[in-house]
Amino acid sequence: MSKPKIVVLGAGYAGMMTTKRLMQKLRPEEAELVLVNKHNYHYQTTWLHQVAAGTVNQNQARMMISDVINPNRVNLIYDEVVDVKKDENRVLLKNSEITYDYLVISLGFETNTFGIKGMEKNAFSITDIESSRMIREHIEYQFAKYSTDKNPKDEDLAILVGGGGFTGIEFVGELAEKVPELCKKYDIDRNKVRIINVEAAPRVLPGFDDELVSYAKRSLEERGVEFMEGAKINECKKNSFVIGDDNEEIKAGTIVWTGGVTGNSILSKAGFEITKGKVTVNGDMRAPGEENIFILGDCAWVMNEAEGKPFPPTAQAAMQHADTCANNLQALLHREPMNKFVFDDKGTVASLGETDAMGTVFNDNKLYGKPAVSMKKVIDNRYLFLLGGPKLILKKGKLRML
Ligand code: FAD
Ligand code: NAD
Repeated sequence: MSKPKIVVLGAGYAGMMTTKRLMQKLRPEEAELVLVNKHNYHYQTTWLHQVAAGTVNQNQARMMISDVINPNRVNLIYDEVVDVKKDENRVLLKNSEITYDYLVISLGFETNTFGIKGMEKNAFSITDIESSRMIREHIEYQFAKYSTDKNPKDEDLAILVGGGGFTGIEFVGELAEKVPELCKKYDIDRNKVRIINVEAAPRVLPGFDDELVSYAKRSLEERGVEFMEGAKINECKKNSFVIGDDNEEIKAGTIVWTGGVTGNSILSKAGFEITKGKVTVNGDMRAPGEENIFILGDCAWVMNEAEGKPFPPTAQAAMQHADTCANNLQALLHREPMNKFVFDDKGTVASLGETDAMGTVFNDNKLYGKPAVSMKKVIDNRYLFLLGGPKLILKKGKLRML
């Protein structure tokens, strides 16, 4: 009898950890494992703001998939998923197609511009390694151009960041450290460079602890970041945001949108029922009505029943989805009962550049400054440890200041 074939789509946090766990849980004769990803490398999405600012090299934020997933055990396919024919147990790839008995969809997020005029066309976004590298190169180009132009314009040096959620705040934190370095490199006065974060809500990081938000703002303002709060972006032009009721225009040479994310568009294309771009999963992480399809990470809408709203899409949650999914796939193959997903909230820590951070850990204990910086690195390194053990931490980890 042929072995059941488990196909995992997307090698991000959820897909990598599911594959890793399945390798540990299932004997080779129990199931055939396939992992499909657009690239032959895996990147840590949670480091992309650093790649975009140029404070971390893109090669530190990524690794060859075959270095951590044994290709003799898992069939690694590097191709782009274009559709899922769930009624036929088939996945269409750009260059071929594959069938499955069990499917795990962990294709991550796409940037959500909420239909804001001009945003998709005129703003960069921090979505993957390539899009982040483009931001870094564009910023450096603006500095190089300024230093050689006969009539340089200060506004070309300005960097506008739309959206003051965690991504926007972590990104301006990195910029606060990168900009002085670029100023030195290109002999430009630091005071000529504006870093502006624009947030529609009355305060950045809406819903987060007031004291921690104040701390983050103070730390960033001291390093030259400007905040425009209660400032809704109505339009993005080639070199500006149009903001607020009076349509004030703020110009910049670099414009980055960090105003929101949604699930991968493959989900709606494949005919799943969608809630705000995601699939509302059952307790066992399967798609409703689908016996053999699990949806994880940023593609999954998982309700926090206690608070009556969904859990935010985070790497922390994606890794936990992966554990539940791998357990449940093993249970399905062994004809045992499946587990319900229960989120174990370990807290949230946000970096404010290399030298500062803030957040909450374990039961809302607040952390600031150096302890928070170290905690953030512990979190990043823990993931590398789970994926590839101490060897991977030594190769790719954040070891300074631990
Ligand atoms: P991802 O990790 O994004 O992986 C998706 C994978 O699918 C990628 O490898 C991608 O290349 C692949 N893929 C996509 N489309 C296709 C296709 N069509 N065909 C083939 N492959 C495809 N969360 C935290 O918990 N802590 C943090 O500190 C944190 N920081 C963040 C910082 C930034 C800048 C950003 C953007 C997000 C951050 N998050 C953080 C959120 C976190 O990164 C996501 O929730 C997490 O990456 C979701 O994991 P995932 O596996 O669903 O998707
Ligand atoms: P987000 O949705 O959390 O934040 C987007 C922000 O943009 C919001 O504050 C929103 O009010 C603002 N916004 C939306 N439309 C706007 C407009 N027209 N004008 C001005 N502002 C506008 O998105 P994100 O920051 O990309 O985060 C995505 C997910 O990743 C979240 O779940 C977040 O928790 C997670 N994340 C976590 C960390 C961390 O734990 N350190 C870091 C980054 C991201």
